[in-house]
Order: sequence, then C-alpha cells, then structure tokens
Amino acid sequence: MPQMMSDRLQTHQEATGDADGTVLGKLYSYTDTNSPINTDGFYNVSFHQLKRHNVLTRFRRIRPGMMMQEETMSINYAEHLSKAISFPTVYQDNLDAAHKAAFVDFRNYLATAFPRLHSTLKQEVIENYSLLYTWKGSNPKLKPILLIAHMDVVPVEQGTEAKWKYPAFGENIDSGYIWGRGSMDDKVSMMGVMEAVESLLASGYQPQRDIYLAFGHDEEVHGNGAAGISAELEKRGLYFDYILDEGGGIADGLIPQVDKPVAFVGIAEKGYLTLQLDANVIGGHSSAPANEGAVGVLARAIYRLQDHPFHSRLTTPVRQMFHELSRNMPGVQGFVAKHTSLFAGLIKNELADNAYTSSLIQTTIAPTIVSGGVQDNVMPTTAKVVINFRLLHGETSQSVINHVKRAIHDKRVTVTAMDDVWEPSKVTSIKSRSYRVLRKTIQQLYPNTTVAPDLNVSLSDSRHYASLTDNILRFVPLQMHTGDIERIHGTNERIAVSTYKSTIKFYYAFIVNSDSQL
Ligand SMILES: [Zn+2]
Repeated sequence: MPQMMSDRLQTHQEATGDADGTVLGKLYSYTDTNSPINTDGFYNVSFHQLKRHNVLTRFRRIRPGMMMQEETMSINYAEHLSKAISFPTVYQDNLDAAHKAAFVDFRNYLATAFPRLHSTLKQEVIENYSLLYTWKGSNPKLKPILLIAHMDVVPVEQGTEAKWKYPAFGENIDSGYIWGRGSMDDKVSMMGVMEAVESLLASGYQPQRDIYLAFGHDEEVHGNGAAGISAELEKRGLYFDYILDEGGGIADGLIPQVDKPVAFVGIAEKGYLTLQLDANVIGGHSSAPANEGAVGVLARAIYRLQDHPFHSRLTTPVRQMFHELSRNMPGVQGFVAKHTSLFAGLIKNELADNAYTSSLIQTTIAPTIVSGGVQDNVMPTTAKVVINFRLLHGETSQSVINHVKRAIHDKRVTVTAMDDVWEPSKVTSIKSRSYRVLRKTIQQLYPNTTVAPDLNVSLSDSRHYASLTDNILRFVPLQMHTGDIERIHGTNERIAVSTYKSTIKFYYAFIVNSDSQL
C-alpha cells in the first residue's frame, strides 16, 4: 500500500467507520484515475477525485447481505462445471491408472479454472486425492468455518449407458442444462463454492474469519478422504463455528400441503449400523432333513425381526420441521402440524404410509445380502444375512443389537456388528448463529421459499467432522422438481444452467454473510 494512499484512506475509514482494509485493497487496485503517479510510485489522488470517478460505488466494500456482482463472475462458469464433469472421478479400491489420472487431471484443471483462488488460498492434497484449501481471514479471534463437498461420483450402472441423452462423462451443455454425472451430486457444490470464492477474490473480498474448503475423493465409498482431512484439522487444534455440507435441497411442488418451495436444511443425520446374522445348525442329507436347516432358521430370524419393528417416534428435527412447515399449511393441516405433541399419533400414521417419510420416524431394518448352501441335495450347516440399520436419534448401536437379539430369540443365530458403525449425529440448534446465517442466505437468494430443518436419513462426509464443531448444516440449493431426485445416482443427471448460476450466488452470499453479527 503506497503511503499517501494509505493515509488518505485512513482518513476515509475514520470518517465512514469502515473497520477493515477491504476498501483499501480495492481502491489500490483501481488505476484509471488519470492522476499523476508520484516519484515514489504513489497515486496522488484525493477522495473527491475517487468519488467523481465513481470508484467508491464501483468498489463498494462487500458487507453481509450483499449479493454477487455478476461482472465479477467468470463468464465460463457453466463450461467450468461441464469440464469438471468430464473427468471420471469414480473412486474404487485399487484404483486403476485411468481413474488415478482422472483425479490428478481434475486437480490440475482446477488450478487453471480458478487462478485467483489458487494464488490466494493454501492448497493441500490429503490421502492422495482429497483437497483442503485455507483462506486466511483478517480476524484470527473469530472461529473458522468449513465448506465441504466431494469430488468423486458414482459409476454409471452397467447396461444403462444407452439411456443417457449425453455421455455421463462428456462435456455437454444443451437445452439450458449442463449434463453428466456429478452435475447434481456433488461437483455442483464443489465447483459452485470455488466459483464463488474466485468471484469474491475478483471483488477484492477479504473474509474476517478463516475459511476452509475441504473436498473429499471417496465420499461414495468410504469417506477416507474426509476422515484424513478431519484428522489433519484436529491435529491443528481447529474448532469450527459451523460446517456446510451437501444434504437437503429445495423441494418445489413436492410437498403436497405446502404451496411454496421448501428449502430443507439437514440439522441432523441418522446413525448407521450393519449386522451379520449367522445361523448355525447340524447339517445332513436333504432327503431326510433333521431340522429346518440353517436356511430355515435364518428365514425365521429375519421374519421375526421384521415382525418386531422399532417404535416410531417424532424426534426433535422432525418436530421442528413440522413446526416450520405448519406456517404455510392451510387450516386443519397447519394446526395439526404445529401441535406435534398433541397429534403425534396422527402425524406418525400419515408418515408411516410412505417409505421415505416413514424413515424419518423409525430406525429402519433393511436385509441386503443373504447367502447359504452349496448344493441342492445338501442341508447347509450355516447361512447368513447382512442387515443394514439406520438409527433414529434416541437409539444407539448397542440398543439396536439388544433389540435384534430379543426379537429373534434364537440361540442358533449369532449377531455380529460389522465395521463402520455411526451413532446418530448431534442435532444442530436452529437457534444457532450458523442456522440463522444459512436461513438468511436462503431467504435472500430465494425470497419466496420456506426454510425448514430436516433429518437426513443417509450418511454424508460431514459425519467425519463431527468432533470439530457443534453445528453441521447439510444443504445444497438445488431446486428439485418431480423426477429430479431419480437423476441423482441415476440416469441423465443434469442441472439447469440458471440453477447452477444461483448456486454460485448462494455460496457467495453464504460466505459474505458468515461475517454478519446475526
Ligand atoms: Zn453426494
């Protein structure tokens, strides 16, 4: 900062109460003042001149509540996402050379697409492919925030390739859509965040708090990338004010009783447990079976378990969701939704009717793999089934195991927990600053939208960061209409260019709003 410039701006700061140096940086970058440059290389320019040249309004200091100025956004934002999709970043164990190259090429591409970001933020590669970026804030006393997304995508199901309108890993923008795998899950978030940061840097923005960006490379399989990043952050003693991850979206026309779009913010995530049940009996010849056999014992165990489902309950996130939705529900429905305690039975009956909504009120039981027997005329001595449970808050992995053993009530069946056990997550308070910042940002970008808390029934990378914050928010501003949900992990995944543009603006505003005193 040239001295004279600095002095003059200092005066201006005092006069206007501008507390940080953002405006200084922006003015300094302004060179079209027609003013002579001193021998020292300083601009000899007064504030009156700057005002006359409209500099002060053009380079306004970015404050909470301000929206992205479109001229700071790359004109190639859609092409950037389309190019990102063309790298087949499908993660599997024992990655082959082509897929290793996809991750490395993608990383190299990011540096060319986002030059400001890469020259300002620190980049670290973790677990070979995951990426961690650090953007230093101006006020080290404030707690940092963390934005996470994942760069890996699920493969295309074999046999469905021909049903894709455009190749899943091609660069195709057509009919107002960006097509391909990852356009909704989750390259849209990763690229959207980076595009927003690039634009903020172009505006001369300097965040107050440190902002971390973490992009895992294997969310769809293990989440080892996220676990590695989290361990690294923990080692540095970091504790985040809040974390934003993928999760809920904006449901438009999907909630029959609510005539406005609803932005669902995941404030909690169900737990995860997989049990293996082994039936062990004496075998024999199938011509004279001595007992019902391992298959029969196992079948009975599965039947008894499914005949003893977990009790349904309305947990805090779901009650809070209903309370929010009730504001936009007419008449009796609104009254019922608002009074969840009074009408718990009625609400639970409604929700139990549908597979998705019933998963919001129950620990679910899903037998997924079954095996046993080797030959048609040999009674097997063993048979096994793998059952996946998603744990509602209030349940623990141990209470589920106890329930399973009681329900089966058969000594011939052993119950073993498999690795990868996740207890239900903490619940983020809707009174927290984090929730208020997110709600405000959503309302700012999508004015006619109701914001409601939600319970996420599937796992996200955010679980690996649970020890690093009290507040995890799970939300991507994707507007979902009928038929869109099937495209995620399905065929013809795509995003409207206009939706992607507002996604970038959303992340921009979310970062700027993180400076607010809400
Ligand atoms: Zn995802």
